[in-house]
Amino acid sequence: MNVYDSATMESLMEPLGYDSTNNSEVADLIILNTCHIREKASEKVFSELGRIKKIKSERAKNGQRTLIAVSGCVAQAEGDSILKRAPYVDIIFGPQTTHLLPELVTKVNRLSTSQIETSFPVNSKFDHLPMPRSEGPSAFLSIQEGCDKFCTFCVVPYTRGEEYSRPAMNILDEAKFLSERGVKEITLLGQNVNAYHGEAPLDHKIWGLGRLIKEIAEIDGISRIRYTTSHPRDLSDEIIDTHKSVDKLMPQLHLPVQSGSDRILKAMNRKHTSSEYLHLIDKLRKARSDIAISSDFIVGFPGETEQDFKETLQLVRDVNFSHSFSFKFSIRPGTPASYYKKHVPNETKSERLKELQDLLDKQNSDFNKKFIGKKMTILVKGKGKTHGQMLGSSPYLQPVRVENSSLKLGETHIVNITKVEANSLLGKC
Ligand code: SAH
Ligand code: SF4
Repeated sequence: MNVYDSATMESLMEPLGYDSTNNSEVADLIILNTCHIREKASEKVFSELGRIKKIKSERAKNGQRTLIAVSGCVAQAEGDSILKRAPYVDIIFGPQTTHLLPELVTKVNRLSTSQIETSFPVNSKFDHLPMPRSEGPSAFLSIQEGCDKFCTFCVVPYTRGEEYSRPAMNILDEAKFLSERGVKEITLLGQNVNAYHGEAPLDHKIWGLGRLIKEIAEIDGISRIRYTTSHPRDLSDEIIDTHKSVDKLMPQLHLPVQSGSDRILKAMNRKHTSSEYLHLIDKLRKARSDIAISSDFIVGFPGETEQDFKETLQLVRDVNFSHSFSFKFSIRPGTPASYYKKHVPNETKSERLKELQDLLDKQNSDFNKKFIGKKMTILVKGKGKTHGQMLGSSPYLQPVRVENSSLKLGETHIVNITKVEANSLLGKC
């Protein structure tokens, strides 16, 4: 989501004469687009700001002015307290006020005082945003934002605000725009993407995610569709059926479960049990037998016992995931779980995380090894690490590297998989 938001900021600043650069030392405006989901991500902001401060003063010695902006969920959550720790910051704006960036830059230039904009405007920011800049054959498309689920560990409902689905027409227009610019693969984005219920074009009825995917699949240039991140509670039969009926929908789904213990799932307010999750996986595999399922896990949630953790390991064995992300529980200020007692000691969290990750890594490597000696269709997305190597992605979202410099960006090719490395597959064509 932050990658998508950053691309939108680039589009917003273009009419004001700004172009993007990866070199912060030559930038007139540096934007830190931040994440508040775990403490580590959040703390990074201040170490980065320290580095950027030095650039600002070095440039000032040469008579060059540098504006520093902090956006995203840390900006939303911390607001003006960022200015107390880092008074050299010029602009602070939250995820729902991205569209105000040009105005905020103009105000700083005119008034020479720092600007803060962390409100939740009544009108959707999407009504004011240009099409995001897209480079390459693969693009994100934000269709839904915010969350009403209030899992007890999570800051998202407080930083991104309440659930909002963009009208389907705007999404279809953006998908067509992307396809006209050479995009072949679209990943539909939302904090809770499968809760999508957007106003339909013309008849003002409501479309769910399944219907939206079917309509996007009608756009000729688009050959691959994905969506992330989904909540088990909102995985309707209509969406599951779309995995069966729409070939362009890739056989891969990120469906976070967080824990395998019903006691912990309840304390997390996840609104589903482990057996309900397993039932969904069954239905998905019946609809599309080769679907790759990935998940997120939190270990060491307050009150998590050895037995609860064992139930998580059991669920992992039952599902057999293709790929996953796992984290130690991180206290987020203001969330209900931050007030819970019986916090799990960090040492126990580390041990559990290691045990879980060993199991998930083994499943990931077994999943990848299945493809050795088989053919796979890849979408070429960029250059590989070494000279002459190209990088593509498989339908299951595995990175595939191919020693063949004649492959062009955006092309699809059938490759023979010869080897599996730590984070990618190697193929020949
Ligand atoms: N909407 C998605 C998740 C978004 S946040 C869902 O409901 O599954 C991405 C991931 O960050 C979560 O799935 C969770 O595993 C992790 N996460 C969120 N808050 C966390 C916290 N306080 N501590 C540790 N991990 C956390
Ligand atoms: Fe956070 Fe996802 Fe739960 Fe929403 S559904 S509160 S984004 S973890």
